[in-house]
Amino acid sequence: MVKVTHLTKKYGDYCAVDDISFELEDGCVYGFLGPNGAGKSTTMNMITGYLAPTRGSVLIDDISMMKSPEKAKKLIGYLPEIPPLYPDMTVLEYLKFAAELKGIDKIERMNKIHRIIETVKLEVVEERLIKNLSKGYKQRVGLAQALLADPKIIILDEPTVGLDPKQIVEVRDLIRRLGEDHTVILSTHILSEVRAVCDHVIIVSRGKIAADDSIDHLVEQYNEKQRLTIVVKGNSSNAEKVIGRIEGIEEKKMLEESTESCRIGITAEAGRDIREEIFVKCSENGLIVLELNVEEISFEDVYLKLTNEAYDLETPDDGREG
Ligand code: ADP
Ligand code: MG
Repeated sequence: MVKVTHLTKKYGDYCAVDDISFELEDGCVYGFLGPNGAGKSTTMNMITGYLAPTRGSVLIDDISMMKSPEKAKKLIGYLPEIPPLYPDMTVLEYLKFAAELKGIDKIERMNKIHRIIETVKLEVVEERLIKNLSKGYKQRVGLAQALLADPKIIILDEPTVGLDPKQIVEVRDLIRRLGEDHTVILSTHILSEVRAVCDHVIIVSRGKIAADDSIDHLVEQYNEKQRLTIVVKGNSSNAEKVIGRIEGIEEKKMLEESTESCRIGITAEAGRDIREEIFVKCSENGLIVLELNVEEISFEDVYLKLTNEAYDLETPDDGREG
């Protein structure tokens, strides 16, 4: 289990991670989601013991990352945003070196290395220099390094960035397989990726947690109410009056008005399709319905609402100097 409590990181006056707390259960795949600059990498670097927090604590299976970093780190395999590769080593040389660093028993070392090479499909490049590998293969070498010591928890920082579509599918499949018997935390700002592999998401925005939930439950919550928009011809005050009298409508809001028509947003109780009634009541009262739409709130909509930012917002460079 991973337990993060009041974790905070300040760069000067700038708070990159602002008092976040969460708990992760064993054996799930977690998506750590948020726009660029939200604080994902900073958080992951603190969870894995690569960066000291300004405040707060991290427990890995009840072992404190601050008090016993060596013991806690043994339980984690980490693929940082920029994997720590040595370009002048061959894949095999590098993995031997990494295995030694991780303190893997000499007798077991080659066995483990060969098993990992098979798992992440590096056989064809094992004798090649890392600097000559494609981005996809380099990423897999980084992944191999993270998996080498059989960690219980695997933390991957944007593992598919810069890969081509075929490589992305392969890495996703691998993550799914790893998720069967590991706890996996995966950061990304790609929503489809999260949907494809994660059981649960933690959405971060500007250093704070905006949601900590399963995707289905998150979307369900936002769809608890029925949301519709209606466009009617003519007089807006009459339209508002008529719609306001319909049973089951909880809220109405004028969205757009002109001399010819008006658009009204409606919130109604869920569970019963209210469209027919709206249509009948409008026509009984001489209102001509030009449009009537039901709005389903998607995971993308929820994400945008929670983060309040555009999908690919670049990392803000203000605050860097702090
Ligand atoms: P993410 O991984 O979600 O894109 P980061 O954790 O990398 O976000 O960064 C969070 C914020 O902290 C950003 O605004 C970034 O500019 C800032 N930041 C990250 N590292 C440093 C640093 N070493 N010094 C100053 N500011 C930093
Ligand atoms: Mg990052």
